[in-house]
Amino acid sequence: MCYASLTYLVQVSLLIYAKLSYAQHAFDASSAQGSQNSYSSVASYSVETLLSTDTLYPTKDVSSTAVGYSAESLYSTESSGSTQTPGSTQVSYSTDDSLYSTVYVYSTAGGSSAEMSSSPVESTAPANPECTWNSIQILDPETWTPVETYEYNTYTTPVVAPGDIDSDIFDMVKGLTLEQKVGQMTQIETGQIADCNGNLNETAVTYWIEKWGVGSFLETPGNHGGKYSWYSPKEFADWTDAVQRIALEKGPKIPIIWGLDSVRGANYVKGGTIFPSGTGTAATFNTQNAYNAGRIAAKDTRSAGVHWAFGPVLDLAVNKLWSRTYEDFGEEPYLSSQMARFSTLGYQGDYKKDRARVATSIKHFIAYGDPFDGSDRADRYIAKHDLLEYYVPPFQAGIDAGAAAVMESYGVINDEAVSISQYYLKDLLRTQLGFKGMMVTDWAEINNQALKYFTAKDVEQANLLALQNTTIDMSMVADDNTFSNITITLVQKGIIPESRIEESAARVLQLKKDLGLFDAPYADRSLANTVGSPQDVETARNAVRESITLLKNKNNVLPLKASDNVLFVGPTINTTRYMGGGWNVHWQGPSDAEGDGVYQGFGDTILKGVEQILGCQPTYYLGVDIQGENYTNFDEILNAARTVDKVVIGLGESSYAEEFGNRGNLTLPAKHLDLVRQVARVTQAPIIVVLVEGRPRILEDVADIADSIIDAYLPGAYGGLPIAEILYGKTNPSGRLPITYPAEESQASDTVWQPAYMEYAPQWPFGYGLGYSSISYSNVTLSSSSVSIGSPVIASVKVTNNGPYPQKEPVLMFTQQQYRPFYAPENYRLRAFDKVDLAVGESKTVIFTLNAEDLAFWDSQLRRRIEPAPVNVVINPYTQVNITAVVNLEGDSSAAIAQGVGA
Ligand code: BGC
Repeated sequence: MCYASLTYLVQVSLLIYAKLSYAQHAFDASSAQGSQNSYSSVASYSVETLLSTDTLYPTKDVSSTAVGYSAESLYSTESSGSTQTPGSTQVSYSTDDSLYSTVYVYSTAGGSSAEMSSSPVESTAPANPECTWNSIQILDPETWTPVETYEYNTYTTPVVAPGDIDSDIFDMVKGLTLEQKVGQMTQIETGQIADCNGNLNETAVTYWIEKWGVGSFLETPGNHGGKYSWYSPKEFADWTDAVQRIALEKGPKIPIIWGLDSVRGANYVKGGTIFPSGTGTAATFNTQNAYNAGRIAAKDTRSAGVHWAFGPVLDLAVNKLWSRTYEDFGEEPYLSSQMARFSTLGYQGDYKKDRARVATSIKHFIAYGDPFDGSDRADRYIAKHDLLEYYVPPFQAGIDAGAAAVMESYGVINDEAVSISQYYLKDLLRTQLGFKGMMVTDWAEINNQALKYFTAKDVEQANLLALQNTTIDMSMVADDNTFSNITITLVQKGIIPESRIEESAARVLQLKKDLGLFDAPYADRSLANTVGSPQDVETARNAVRESITLLKNKNNVLPLKASDNVLFVGPTINTTRYMGGGWNVHWQGPSDAEGDGVYQGFGDTILKGVEQILGCQPTYYLGVDIQGENYTNFDEILNAARTVDKVVIGLGESSYAEEFGNRGNLTLPAKHLDLVRQVARVTQAPIIVVLVEGRPRILEDVADIADSIIDAYLPGAYGGLPIAEILYGKTNPSGRLPITYPAEESQASDTVWQPAYMEYAPQWPFGYGLGYSSISYSNVTLSSSSVSIGSPVIASVKVTNNGPYPQKEPVLMFTQQQYRPFYAPENYRLRAFDKVDLAVGESKTVIFTLNAEDLAFWDSQLRRRIEPAPVNVVINPYTQVNITAVVNLEGDSSAAIAQGVGA
């Protein structure tokens, strides 16, 4: 029921922001906030300066003219020595002041400046003297009416996967010059081919194609100096097609392959339907949602003339402080593996035939999700057997589902740099996991060895080690010619055999062939009609409906009644962009200056959803800004709270990605929590907290104060209506936590699979979540009292919906080994799940197979084996009481189990 008029946030629709940006990633090279190298003060100086008044959103290309700081002044500031830290090395800047004015960071890792300058990282693309800096990015005016529905196929079997290289591809490679072969291995970001008015600079494209034979470009111009904030399928395809045309006419005359972070739908294509982030998808415990998001992402991506998605993200979200937690399918290897499989199948389908599909790039290989201090790219300390047991299985699942490409991970594991590691990238990925496709580095990661991690003397050595030790096929360079230059020299000097280059060039060309680029190199413009189709929007909304997780519902405060007088408050109630988070329109999400206007109607808000349900506007106050800095209308809120039936408070996080999401702790801002406390002090009305957040933010006593709590994760641009439906009982919540929700900071890295002897007392455990119906289970019945290799046991359990609503019920089967000689058994391991639809009064029997092979583990000698002992088979331990049975795991503990890694 709506009693008062709406107090809306004033939306700033004028899309002004300096396109100064920094470089998504060149910044990465200089920042490393919180990590142990010498750059932190460099970063804070640069970030504060460059992102202050002149820009509201970081995209690309720090232009000294745009920000009013010359490279010299940056240099001299740093030369003051203020950035030196013990054991660090000299850090200096230089710029290429031709077309791109990109600021680069050099370090010497113990060397001198003189040595440094022998490793120039420079862009030599020709300048365009006509350019004047234009700092306005505008909305793409292109409009279209998407079709209501369209036909699609749901290809899943047989799995289509990369295979051996065709002989015609080998012949093609042999016909290329050395430069052209290396070019196929080179990927350049689109900012390098944008002119300073935001248009495609064909001179620059020609330069990269003719001089370096570049085989691939990546990213959206919207993140890198393009004139539009969000490129429509048409404008994006105009851009990629123009590049393709030059590629086909000049240099080696080979089509380019374009890569894009379409990680939750085609989030960088205007109107592309944006799905929940990985955690949201995993929370549905329904793999169909992962498949759908992949399939629709593929089609919308392809409409823009882009052939390759840098997803799905298969890192395990172990340390919840990590800014990339939301991108992952949760913390649990089995859940993540299932989602990995269906997501990969969704993106790729029959990608060698179906031109509405894309190649995936499962990422980031490997174990990126457990930075020891929670900051992005911090070192991970992971025993090898744990790596195989927990972190590898999702990648194995992606590879088994046919992933055409793998992206290696930033950083260092146990002090060993991933990008130049023979163990991680050759022995493990290729030999042990059997990956046959193409492997790409993460952004600038080869040069980062010298410039960031000090794992190479200089960029020459970094490139040499990467080529020598690994099977890296493509370097996401992404802003300069170092990779090409150095690689060509290494081959000419006989240090790297040309066959090494040919092998990788062949993998790249094979992928191009598989994607049909030799036959149909240009965008299929007919796909644009389906972008933003109501059918896709409904599919995304269904995923959100299934993801939202009800964590608390004291006295059945929810669902709300239409007749309730409800006060809505909070920074996540009336926003599309915070529901989207990072990797949504822009790398860091839309800026506040852009506001929700940037969506041009492709999205909703919780408030709009409520209006749609009630048919009128409810009372709404912002109350507190998303950063938790200022209160607004505080007295009005308290006054209103005294008289209403219920108060809904939306809290959470603003958008961020990668290092920009580093935080010192997980607790929600004090003013967010205080808002709830203050409201609770003045009213008897029940309080419902709705969380829109990329990682589980600690609630302190608010977890007790609130009567109901809903976690919506990052539901995407279309999260508003589904959340409103859950609030008003139009949909019965069925999401379950795919992560452990900590109660306090010390629990940031707690997981459901941690050793059983450790206290596991989070705010809410993995797999937790409620529905509005009362569900009961019978006990588990097992087909046998023992399980051994080759002789599985069948578990069955009856589940009944006692009403009062229809319910989708996730049934999760865990195991818990009662003891395990020498190796502490885990708290719980998820072994199977299913989501069943139950009408009111309906019962269903759910059947799972449990194999002894599933119960095997990797020991510290890297043998996969079992330890015979009783095993508890437990259904939904955190939402039900004692639905359990015991099976004896039998077998020979000295026998190695022959099966895939973590299968
Ligand atoms: C991220 C990757 C992404 C790449 C290209 C990197 O910084 O780590 O996930 O695919 O940029 O944008």
